[in-house]
Amino acid sequence: MQCDFSFRHYAECIRRISASPNRIEMIHDIDFEPNNVREMAEIECRNGLKTTYFVRLHAKSYNAFSLPVLETLSDLVESYGHRIGLHFEPSFYEEKRISEAILRESAILNFVLRVPITALSIHEPARFGGIKQEDVPEGMTLYCWDSAYYKGKKYISDSGSRWREGCMCQHLHHEEMIILTHPDSWFHRTSAENY
Ligand SMILES: [Zn+2]
Ligand SMILES: [Zn+2]
Repeated sequence: MQCDFSFRHYAECIRRISASPNRIEMIHDIDFEPNNVREMAEIECRNGLKTTYFVRLHAKSYNAFSLPVLETLSDLVESYGHRIGLHFEPSFYEEKRISEAILRESAILNFVLRVPITALSIHEPARFGGIKQEDVPEGMTLYCWDSAYYKGKKYISDSGSRWREGCMCQHLHHEEMIILTHPDSWFHRTSAENY
């Protein structure tokens, strides 16, 4: 098995994850484009995996509320059985407004998409820092490496299209694990398909 960022290898990894007895949770940050989201979602669904896709509301490159993106997001939930979360951008706000911003942004996402928003992740926490646990609304899970939810779980991510500790397929022996991927990083033949 050759490790790369091809959809071929993605499908191999997903097959192995779905066959594993370990508790492996897949999450995805839609940072720049929702191009590959449908294809990833379909591979996961075909293998019986339910995952979470985190959506930005302040991206320059896509509008979560435009018709094509809304249709993709709705399909993630309705056709593939996945979950939508808010990919929150703390650098957009002053610190004292963060708690209110999360509440309002998740409410508008919930209103437009008509799905519950119960998951929150942070965009670029390495550059701008995370958020305080007390700013997380009740009933919402914070997906960030320093959050209580990650305690005791192995966490790996393909941030910057690089697995810092080796590809996800080399880590599936961990009993509890969270794997973050970015749909923009994956392609069929060349990364030029995406950007
Ligand atoms: Zn691999
Ligand atoms: Zn992000």
